[in-house]
Amino acid sequence: MTERLYLDDPDRLTFEARVVGVRTLAGRPAVVLDRTAFYPEGGGQPADRGRLGGAAVVDVQEVDGELLHALEGAPPEAGAPVPGEVDAVRRRDHLQQHHGQHLLSAAFEATAGAHTVSFHLGAETCSIDLDAPAASLGEERLRAAEARANDLVFRDLPVTARDFEPAELAALPLRKAPEKGARIVVVGDLARGEVVDAS
Ligand SMILES: [Zn+2]
Repeated sequence: MTERLYLDDPDRLTFEARVVGVRTLAGRPAVVLDRTAFYPEGGGQPADRGRLGGAAVVDVQEVDGELLHALEGAPPEAGAPVPGEVDAVRRRDHLQQHHGQHLLSAAFEATAGAHTVSFHLGAETCSIDLDAPAASLGEERLRAAEARANDLVFRDLPVTARDFEPAELAALPLRKAPEKGARIVVVGDLARGEVVDAS
């Protein structure tokens, strides 16, 4: 089981790990590590890229509970420690888009009662699918959602991402029921009970 360093420390971009398994992913060699800071594709967010020893990490996917790091170049030797480095620019881009999506989804919820059913982060654009008909989201409502989202950005609210106990969970204004586990991303001041988004 790979230790997922990105869960406790999303700012960590360099680490050292050992190869514990070699697989293939879409025709490329792919390694399983004992620990990793590489975020696999999931939750609407594309996979990290970067370097693992002398090889480039070109994709990271979770397959049957294993985190596969697809490599271009020779995979590092099994058992030996190997340095890993996540592409910081790509990660920051995903982080900003994903956080922006949370804020915009919260804004549409608050201003138009429109729930986000899915979203997609890409290299050029980020899209959010709402459960409201387009005709119900006129110019005025779009401007209101935009203003609300910008307000949330300018307030520079704290973000907490961790597992929540059932009692804490019950008190959170979740946008939707968690699909797996109890890891929640909360935007707002938990101590003061001012939560603007919990997802
Ligand atoms: Zn999210």
